[in-house]
Amino acid sequence: MKYVPIIFCFVMGGFIFQQGDKYEAARERMVTQQIVSRGVKDAATLKAMRMVPRHIFVPKEYENEAYDDNPLPIGYGQTISQPYIVAYMTEIAGPDPSKKALEIGTGSGYQAAILGEVVKKVYSIEIVPELARESAERLKKLGYTNITVKYGDGYKGWKEYSPFDIIIVTAAAEEIPKPLIDQLAENGRLVIPVGPPAAVQELILLEKKNGKIEKSRLTFVRFVPFKRL
Ligand code: SAH
Repeated sequence: MKYVPIIFCFVMGGFIFQQGDKYEAARERMVTQQIVSRGVKDAATLKAMRMVPRHIFVPKEYENEAYDDNPLPIGYGQTISQPYIVAYMTEIAGPDPSKKALEIGTGSGYQAAILGEVVKKVYSIEIVPELARESAERLKKLGYTNITVKYGDGYKGWKEYSPFDIIIVTAAAEEIPKPLIDQLAENGRLVIPVGPPAAVQELILLEKKNGKIEKSRLTFVRFVPFKRL
């Protein structure tokens, strides 16, 4: 019998992924057991969580733990967030294919990739130069042409490309950086963990409505500290 190897590829939103990688079932379990079960409903967010190969974003030695229900170390004292938190923050940010997003704290690039699936354009800033370089390379290899990463202090935001419809901060700040509030678009949404380092922080949502800021307190979280250059 003749055996013909076939590689299935498909194009989704302009990105090419190989279907049927060995973690597909683990990814599906992650979505149903950790994310849907805790109340995340946004279809685009769930689709992105089912699509993005999280195991590519963690160090080789943690590859088989990539879909577990916890954060993982990514080197330089930093972590990739727990899958549920990534999905929750994405949903809260109000994803839409017309929107432009800014992320502070690129880390592995995983949250940026999820955002890249659900909005038009993502800008992401990382303060550890090695992580900025590695994540930019990783995202490029995966085919994301709508994500731009730069090394720098995200406190100042990225004025050149502002205003942003969505701003997601993935490191815990003691207070919300003023430049980020200024760079939020009208009807924009900013999601940020606020609180002391090495303690429990509160996830805060800021919305800009008619130029005014509305604040909601969402839940308690634990993030690595927001640093300054
Ligand atoms: N979103 C990341 C999670 C990274 S952890 C992911 O999906 O993997 C938070 C990251 O924020 C760390 O990489 C840390 O170096 C970075 N960070 C901390 N303070 C920062 C700042 N002022 N500007 C930009 N990045 C910062």
